[in-house]
Amino acid sequence: MSKVILTGDRPTGKLHVGHYVGSLRRRVELQNSGEFDDIFIMIADAQALTDNADNPEKVRQNIIEVALDYLSVGLDPAKSTLFVQSQIPELTELSFYYMNLVTVSRLQRNPTVKAEIQMRNFETSIPVGFFTYPISQAADITAFKATTVPVGEDQEPMIEQCREIVHKFNTVYGETLVEPQILLPDNAACLRLPGTDGKAKMSKSLGNCIYLSDPEDVVKKKVMSMFTDPNHLRVEDPGEVENNPVFIYLDAFAKDEHFAEFAPDYANLQEMKDHYKRGGLGDVKVKKLLNNVLQTELEPIRKRREGFQKDIPYVYDVIKKGSEVAEQRAAQTLSEVKQAMKIDYFNDKELMAMQSAKYQATED
Ligand code: ATP
Ligand code: MG
Repeated sequence: MSKVILTGDRPTGKLHVGHYVGSLRRRVELQNSGEFDDIFIMIADAQALTDNADNPEKVRQNIIEVALDYLSVGLDPAKSTLFVQSQIPELTELSFYYMNLVTVSRLQRNPTVKAEIQMRNFETSIPVGFFTYPISQAADITAFKATTVPVGEDQEPMIEQCREIVHKFNTVYGETLVEPQILLPDNAACLRLPGTDGKAKMSKSLGNCIYLSDPEDVVKKKVMSMFTDPNHLRVEDPGEVENNPVFIYLDAFAKDEHFAEFAPDYANLQEMKDHYKRGGLGDVKVKKLLNNVLQTELEPIRKRREGFQKDIPYVYDVIKKGSEVAEQRAAQTLSEVKQAMKIDYFNDKELMAMQSAKYQATED
């Protein structure tokens, strides 16, 4: 069986360092490993519209931003197909058929959807499209027969729901779709990077992000005003590292060589953490190190983005061509799905023969 990746992001804003450690960094590694037959990376604009129906302009503006972020982190159109969800009508059609395989109560139990409904204050006025987005996500994944979905931890319930839909479909209509595997970051800090405000998740919708495209001074300002351990008031006080976003970011980004360069008093992160826990290490020093580490990582991304920003028509062309390739693949799967469901009436010779025989028999 071929190995296929499908993953994507909602164009609700520029991409941030949470996306980077949760998914983007891994995607680029997988892309360059040569282990995959096909890699599909989707800009999920139709999904973004499910909770931004009154603001299509936001989605429209951010498609190019996400595409620019993709290219600047090193996703390469020669190796990965970058495409736009709404340009593949087959995905909508698949969703429509999958909706019959999922119950309302199952959707209501999806913990990520539950949390997101709360976060958006939807309460009882949840748009139906938003409520059913896990089904549309299953359509996205299965349309490409994806075997591997590299995403952050918040996506676990979506992949689980997708696997259930695949299982149900294959049981009812015969083996057609492929059950995907989730690929989570192997570093615990990257599963769900917290916001700069200490909230559980860095998220475009919460405005607590460090963006990949933030200029150097903005990154520095955001880092220096980050939330840390609220009980670590004086330098001498012992501090906590576990729920401290500054240390979580260091867990996600820092390498031993960064210490040699920027904090030579410590051999590695563990030594610095031990000092912080003992007391005697101030937040400013830790934040300065984090700033240096982030700048080192973000500088080449920023530089590449500047290059691509000079040729916006090229970037649109990349996602247009990618969408054409993606549509062909989705159309193939849709045709197999319709065949399995036996709703491809006009190609169905058996059906034609059966109905003809039925009426011939009545005439005789
Ligand atoms: P929105 O607020 O509009 O939902 P978002 O910031 O949650 O935006 P998405 O486009 O929903 O971003 O997520 C894209 C991918 O990035 C998913 O794979 C998701 O798991 C991952 N991701 C998003 N935020 C984080 C984070 N803070 N830490 C780790 N991974 C993340
Ligand atoms: Mg999200």
